[in-house]
Amino acid sequence: MSLTVVNPATEEPIAELEQAGVEEADDAVARAKAAYPAWRAVSPADRARLLRRVATLVEENGEELARIESQNVGKPISGARGEIGMVAQVFHFYAGAVDKHGGETIPVAGGVAATFREPLGVVGLIVPWNFPANIASWKLGPALACGNTVVLKPAELTPLSAVRLGELCLEAGIPEGVVNVVVGKGSVVGQRLIEHPDVAKIAFTGSTEVGRIVMQGAAGTIKRVTLELGGKSANVVFEDADLEKAAAAAPYAVFDNAGQDCCARSRVLVQRSVYDRFLDLLVDATRGVQVGDPLDDATEMGPLVSAAHRETVASFVEGEPAFRGDIPDGPGYWYPCTLVEATNDDRVAREEVFGPVAAVIPFEDEADAIRLSNDTPYGLSGSIWTRNGARALRVARATDAGVLSVNANTSVRVQTPFGGFKQSGFGRELGLHALEGYSEVKSVFISTEG
Ligand code: NAD
Repeated sequence: MSLTVVNPATEEPIAELEQAGVEEADDAVARAKAAYPAWRAVSPADRARLLRRVATLVEENGEELARIESQNVGKPISGARGEIGMVAQVFHFYAGAVDKHGGETIPVAGGVAATFREPLGVVGLIVPWNFPANIASWKLGPALACGNTVVLKPAELTPLSAVRLGELCLEAGIPEGVVNVVVGKGSVVGQRLIEHPDVAKIAFTGSTEVGRIVMQGAAGTIKRVTLELGGKSANVVFEDADLEKAAAAAPYAVFDNAGQDCCARSRVLVQRSVYDRFLDLLVDATRGVQVGDPLDDATEMGPLVSAAHRETVASFVEGEPAFRGDIPDGPGYWYPCTLVEATNDDRVAREEVFGPVAAVIPFEDEADAIRLSNDTPYGLSGSIWTRNGARALRVARATDAGVLSVNANTSVRVQTPFGGFKQSGFGRELGLHALEGYSEVKSVFISTEG
C-alpha cells in the first residue's frame, strides 16, 4: 500500500512512498541482527570516523534536508536549517563520545573487578512528526556510537528526512544493515518492533498515549524502553522579572513549530501583581509573530501538520480568546497564534494542545507558582523569569520537570541531558547521559589468586 506525503502549507502531495508491513519490518530486524556482530566489532576509532562522516554529509546536504523538513512538516525554513544543523552537531558529538564511554575498575578482594559498556543489539527507534530528523538523530547518534544496529520508524506524516538520513548513513560508509529505515504505520510496523523478540530496546518519542502502548508491548520480551512523551510546561513570570524581555520571548516558547513542540511552555503563569501589564506586553509580542509561507526566510510560524490535527487544536479554544492572530488566506492547515486566559483546571491548561495556543494563568506568590507549575501529570520542561538568582534556583529545584531554563526558553542542547519526569516519560537523550540508554553495564571479575 502506498503512502502519499503532503505539504501542510499547500495541501499538495509531495511524495508517494511504499508503505512497509509486518513482513518488511521483520526483514529490517533480520538485516539489523545480521549486521550487528560486525558493527559491534568495528574499532572505536573507525566507528567515530564513520559517524563524523555522517555529520559532514548532513552539513554538505543541509539545505536539501532543511527544505525536505520544511515542506514535509510545514515548519519555517530558518528553523528547519537550525534543526538540521543540530543533526550534524549530534553526529559530531557522538563521534567524539565513542571512545570516551568506558567502564571502571572496582576494588574487591581476591582479584580485579572491571565494568564494561556493551551494546544492546538491535534497537527500534520510533519517532514523531514534529522534529523528524532532529529526534531521529538524537537516537541514531548514541545508538550507533555504542555499537548497536537500528531500525528507524519515522512518523507516517513525515518520513522524508528519515529516508534521506538513511541514505547519507550508507553514503558515509556505515555498512549495510546497520541503519534500516522502515516507513509504515505505527500500529503495524511500530507495534511489530515493540513485540519483536530480536529487538532489544525501543527508544520512543511521541505521545503519552502511545508511550503506554510501548511499555505494555515491551513487557512480553522484557525489552528496554526509553520514553520521551508529551508535556504541558510552564513559563513562570515573577513580578521581579525583566517583563519586557520575558514577554518578548514568551511567544516563541509556545508558538515555535506552531506549538507542535513537546517542550512548548503552553501555560504562561504570571504573578498577579504584574498580570495585566504582562498580558498587554504578551499580546503585543504575539502580534509580531510572522506567520506565512514556510519557505520564506522571514517566516516564524507555519501551518499545523494536518487538517485532523487542526481540528483537535481548535477544540481547545472556547469563547473569545484574549488574542487571536492572523493567518494566510488560501490552502494550508493554518491556525492562528492564540492567547487564552484560563485557570490551571481548564482543559486548555491540563491537556497537551500541541498547537499555537497558550493558557495565561495568574498566581499569587512563589509557593503558588511552584504548586501550579507542578499541578500537571507531565514534567518535561519549563522556564522561570526572575532577577532574583536564589529564587530562580529554588523554583528550578522544586519544579518536577527534566529540563528547565532561567530567563530563557531553550530546552535542547546537544551536550545536556534531555527528558521528562512523571508522564513525560523516562530515560535521557542527548549529552553523555544518552549513552546509558544504549548500553548495558557488564561486570567482570578476574581472580589474582594462585
Ligand atoms: P504519536 O505517539 O502519535 O506517534 C509517535 C510515533 O509512534 C509515530 O512514529 C507513530 O507512527 C508511532 N506509533 C503510533 N502508534 C503506535 C503503536 N501502536 N505502536 C508503535 N508505534 C506507534 O505522536 P506524534 O503525534 O507523532 O507526536 C506528537 C507527540 O510526541 C506529542 O505528544 C509530543 O509531546 C510528543 N513528543 C515528545 C518529545 C519529547 O522528547 N518528549 C519530542 C517530540 C514530540
